[in-house]
Amino acid sequence: MSVYKLKILSNIQVSDRYWHMVVDASEIKEKITPGQFFNLKCAEMSFPFLRRPFSIYRINEDSKTIEFLYLVKGAGTVHLTYMQAGNYLDVFGPLGVGFELEEEWDTILLLARGVGIATLAALAQEASKKNVKCVAILSARSNNDLLATETLQGFGAEVYKVTEEDGTSDVEHVEKLIETIFQKHSIKAGFTCGSKRLSRLMQKVTTKKQIPGQIALEEHMGCAMGVCYACVCDLQHEDYVESVRVCKEGPVFDLKKVVLS
Ligand SMILES: Cc1cc2nc3c(=O)[nH]c(=O)nc-3n(C[C@H](O)[C@H](O)[C@H](O)COP(=O)(O)OP(=O)(O)OC[C@H]3O[C@@H](n4cnc5c(N)ncnc54)[C@H](O)[C@@H]3O)c2cc1C
Repeated sequence: MSVYKLKILSNIQVSDRYWHMVVDASEIKEKITPGQFFNLKCAEMSFPFLRRPFSIYRINEDSKTIEFLYLVKGAGTVHLTYMQAGNYLDVFGPLGVGFELEEEWDTILLLARGVGIATLAALAQEASKKNVKCVAILSARSNNDLLATETLQGFGAEVYKVTEEDGTSDVEHVEKLIETIFQKHSIKAGFTCGSKRLSRLMQKVTTKKQIPGQIALEEHMGCAMGVCYACVCDLQHEDYVESVRVCKEGPVFDLKKVVLS
């Protein structure tokens, strides 16, 4: 991983709360894997001091660009919206361990909530390249927040949307939906990001169906390079619990091992 100053090609508001940024990544020589992230300096001045972590939303090898989809939350993301095409974005990465996607998995299930959709979109992109079919359940507060639907459909994913707005996002409803999907498809692995309660559901489902599961965790990060231990989570092994750093050993982990308290 390195620090790069990447030229912003566009940075536009795509809904009430979400923005989409495209940057020129031609300088980046490392391979970027879905699930990995960059730590972005959100402003040219020294405030906000800490960088903020963002998953790679799309990796475009042909145009040598990468994309971020971000939800405006606090100081960092507000400042990120001030960046304009032609400005240079200071990025540190690519960081962390990404998803593992086996070509022999003919169909996989993605379960994403909120900004977790940004993280799983890059996986859907990779899956389409490997001819792995994706079935995706996208969960959000409102339909307006389900931005990546068309992106995922563009990668050939079969997309199901659940929202508070439609009264369809509760765990019981999503569990029934997953059952229907399993009756229709031979799902070989499950992936999740963005919600503890949906991740617990995916943990339950993948355990019951005896298929592999992976989770991308989003924890508060300080340094994002394994030094500060601000982003520790627990993994349950057979007879002991191991504390690991989300930024270094993750953010993608074996779903069955992650302690989702
Ligand atoms: C590996 C990783 C990948 C991520 N990918 C994306 C992405 O693709 N798109 C996206 O929009 N966001 C993503 N996030 C979350 C993003 O980093 C935070 O939303 C961002 O740091 C908020 O910064 P801020 O200064 O705007 O808000 P802050 O002022 O820092 O925080 C605003 C609110 O958000 C909460 N918050 C801040 N950071 C986190 C966090 N990491 N996890 C949970 N709650 C948090 C704070 O407690 C506070 O309530 C990712 C986080 C991680 C760890």
